[in-house]
Amino acid sequence: MRYFIGPYLSVFIAYATDPKTRYHSASGGVATALLRYFLEKKYVDAVVVPRSRFKQGFVYGVRTIVKDPSKLLEFSDSLYAPVYGLPRALTYALSKFKRIAVTALPCHAKAIRKISGSLGRSEDIFILGLYCLYTPSLWASKYALKYFGIHVEEVEFVKFRGYGWPGYTVIKTRKGSMRIPSSRFWGSGFGQYFHGPGCALCIDQTNVSSDISLSDPWTLPHECVKRLGGATLVVVRSRKGLEVIRDAARSGYISAVEIDPVYTIQYTTLLKLSKRVLGRNADTHVLPPSFTTIAHEVAYRLGHLLASREKLWPILKIYHSIASFAYRIASFLDYKLGTTWARVNRYIKLIQRMKLPKEGLFTELRSKQGC
Ligand SMILES: Cc1cc2nc3c(=O)[nH]c(=O)nc-3n(C[C@H](O)[C@H](O)[C@H](O)COP(=O)(O)OP(=O)(O)OC[C@H]3O[C@@H](n4cnc5c(N)ncnc54)[C@H](O)[C@@H]3O)c2cc1C
Ligand code: SF4
Repeated sequence: MRYFIGPYLSVFIAYATDPKTRYHSASGGVATALLRYFLEKKYVDAVVVPRSRFKQGFVYGVRTIVKDPSKLLEFSDSLYAPVYGLPRALTYALSKFKRIAVTALPCHAKAIRKISGSLGRSEDIFILGLYCLYTPSLWASKYALKYFGIHVEEVEFVKFRGYGWPGYTVIKTRKGSMRIPSSRFWGSGFGQYFHGPGCALCIDQTNVSSDISLSDPWTLPHECVKRLGGATLVVVRSRKGLEVIRDAARSGYISAVEIDPVYTIQYTTLLKLSKRVLGRNADTHVLPPSFTTIAHEVAYRLGHLLASREKLWPILKIYHSIASFAYRIASFLDYKLGTTWARVNRYIKLIQRMKLPKEGLFTELRSKQGC
């Protein structure tokens, strides 16, 4: 298992016990609930999170220091956009406070470990990691807004996730607000072609440098998660992470049930861990290339070229549908020819079906509501 998700101690399926937090958060509100727990229990003096900004069609985040737990709900979201100002906010927070918590993507977490280590302050930082497939560039939101026929000049605010699970992307304009299912927004080409080559070559989706990594429970039955109003998969990687999860559950901030670690492996985790054909290879790749992974690589390369010129975006829209068709053919070939990719995927899906939790929130829901 460590082969796929790095070092860990335990895995939980959890959610924020406060329904409002769960409703407004990305998946199950665990990050927001833990940040609240940290501040209210004085486990840390401040938390460093990104505040979302919107300017002329571009969405981005700027790191902000928060000390008031009642403000945290304003930050609940998955900010699918570049986030700036981490080194500055981090060094400032470390100079002002004894202990801090930081939300971080895998590459942020690595940088935080390096910075805090060089300052001799590793023990004073709690890293609340998020899984990360890719971070779309500044141009991605402008493309997606145009794709959905929204006039960029009228947009005041974009929130990518929330409003139930898997939730909606909400766009507030001068004329009102619009809700688009988050998966449709991400799947419009926004999440596929706008990230840079660094993200395309990055292999750490599961955030191995964090104390706790959080992800969407895509590998669990979707209907159950929907009826719960959302949930977050939690990979605990450090002793202090385990203490925090246990104490936050005891204190009523979250509800958490331990589950089999196999649920932490997503289809995209395997995609990221496959050996690249067109890019740099690293020893840490665990799967050989397949028709599917090569199709993804080629589609990204060409799509990224089209994404880089605004006047080519109408072609990108058509190209995106052709690429989706190409993935289906590639997957058919993998399964037909029994490649390693197909065998590993089939095996993991089989175990995920077999190891559904025997007790706790899912079993209760399944027996009562038949999800
Ligand atoms: C760019 C990106 C890619 C992701 N890719 C995947 C994936 O492939 N698979 C998967 O299962 N999950 C992925 N996630 C994680 C997932 O979307 C949720 O963030 C996670 O499940 C935690 O949900 P939650 O409801 O507990 O968080 P919430 O309670 O909503 O809190 C999230 C916290 O993280 C902070 N935050 C949001 N975005 C960022 C950011 N970009 N950088 C730093 N801090 C941030 C917020 O300010 C907030 O404090 C991704 C998230 C992001 C931002
Ligand atoms: S894909 Fe990797 S490099 Fe890109 S933002 Fe996510 S963690 Fe960072």
